[in-house]
Amino acid sequence: MRLVVVSNRVTMPERGEKVAAGGLAVALRSALEQHGGLWFGWSGAVSSEPAAQLEPVKHGKVSYAVTDLTEAERQSYYLGFANRALWPLMHYRLGLTEFTRADYAGYLGVNRRFARLLIPLLKPDDVIWIHDYHLIPLAAELRRRGVTNRIGYFHHIPWPPAEVFGSLPFSSTLISTMTAYDLIGLQTQNDVANLIGGLVALCGAHRDGNRVRTGQREAVVQAFPIGIDVEGFRKLAQASIRAATQPVRATTAPLGSRKLVIGVDRLDYSKGIVQRLEAFGTFLRNHPEYRGDVGLLQIAPPSRSDVPEYAELDRMSDEVAGRLNAALGEFDWTPIRVVKKAYSRSALAGLYRRAQVGLVTPMRDGMNLVAKEYVAAQNPSNPGVLVLSRFAGAAHQLGEALIVNPFDTHEVAEAIRTALAMPLSERQRRFERLYATISSTDIDWWTSRYLAALSGLDIPSGDIV
Ligand code: UDP
Repeated sequence: MRLVVVSNRVTMPERGEKVAAGGLAVALRSALEQHGGLWFGWSGAVSSEPAAQLEPVKHGKVSYAVTDLTEAERQSYYLGFANRALWPLMHYRLGLTEFTRADYAGYLGVNRRFARLLIPLLKPDDVIWIHDYHLIPLAAELRRRGVTNRIGYFHHIPWPPAEVFGSLPFSSTLISTMTAYDLIGLQTQNDVANLIGGLVALCGAHRDGNRVRTGQREAVVQAFPIGIDVEGFRKLAQASIRAATQPVRATTAPLGSRKLVIGVDRLDYSKGIVQRLEAFGTFLRNHPEYRGDVGLLQIAPPSRSDVPEYAELDRMSDEVAGRLNAALGEFDWTPIRVVKKAYSRSALAGLYRRAQVGLVTPMRDGMNLVAKEYVAAQNPSNPGVLVLSRFAGAAHQLGEALIVNPFDTHEVAEAIRTALAMPLSERQRRFERLYATISSTDIDWWTSRYLAALSGLDIPSGDIV
């Protein structure tokens, strides 16, 4: 069996590309290196006439086949339909969802072009694994052109209830293309229930347990919560502290014995960054004894800056941090630092380990790998505490975190205080359970479980978590 992975964006090591900040890129690189195969998708570049045929380039065990997009495709498919319609919609943000017919046509057009480019590269026994919301109709385009290989899909972000998804124009047509897949993976049971509910409500699919049928096609819909390389991350964290890498030194030296609360997120409205800053301000107002003694470091690399809602978030986060620092800071203490650049995984690992509290409070998130990385990086003899939004997929697995409602500023503020005051024995008890969970469902577990299911060796029938 050869594995063919298809994703919107392909990061190619030979181009010296930095590992992208997104969890998807990090996870896929590991999967392909382990299994070998072909990675197909967008190069990230724009050109006026992308090649009509692709010649894969081999690097180690992985071959890469990438196409450029035209500027019109980038605007309509990527910035338009994927990031201004599907992304907010899937994150339950109807008010931010911007739909145009032109964007939808561009989205379908790129999926058709991907199908035409991929077909000549396929072998009969390839297993095809398509990733994420940019490429929902790709399997239907491949089937229409006669592809009979096993095709799986993994949806990395949340799937909303039918009432929300159904507000998208053409939602019935789009969701009905999903039964072209043999296996549809989602992050949580909640997402599975929402997608199955949508297939039944919006296109009259027949349901039998976790199998969904429309016409001649049947798809299995199942939760596969994505994991991380726990052991690798733990080692990175140990090494980073031992070697006191520059970002760790620069961040921790001025702290002295002060406590550190850390947030790490792409600058995205789904992550609840502004609400988190407000919650930290409320915590300092409600518990003045902590002033001067604890700081919030928010790492927030910019993303999708071409989309207006993201530019607005950029401005808002600066404004809120500035206002809170002015109101609550002292001449020798700045309560909140927001750093808008990407850090290496090893720097993050060291910072996580130095932080007494990991503050992961998205308004809605498919999984949230940062939550798992924070746990993996802790020192078992003096672990920090994870504060986690109940609307992150990770909350379905990580019940030993302090689970909060990110819409409730007061609740998040009190959880910060509880975390900072938590005795060592309780921190250790929670940490041990969390660590056991992320270890037993790590990235290798995720890829092997998904691929075993897809290749028909073991189509699981029960709940996984
Ligand atoms: N990340 C990184 N550098 C940064 C910020 C984030 O490498 O400066 C990584 C982080 O370690 C994690 C991923 O980006 O592996 C983010 O994944 P997550 O699931 O939390 O969110 P996403 O960005 O995929 O929505």
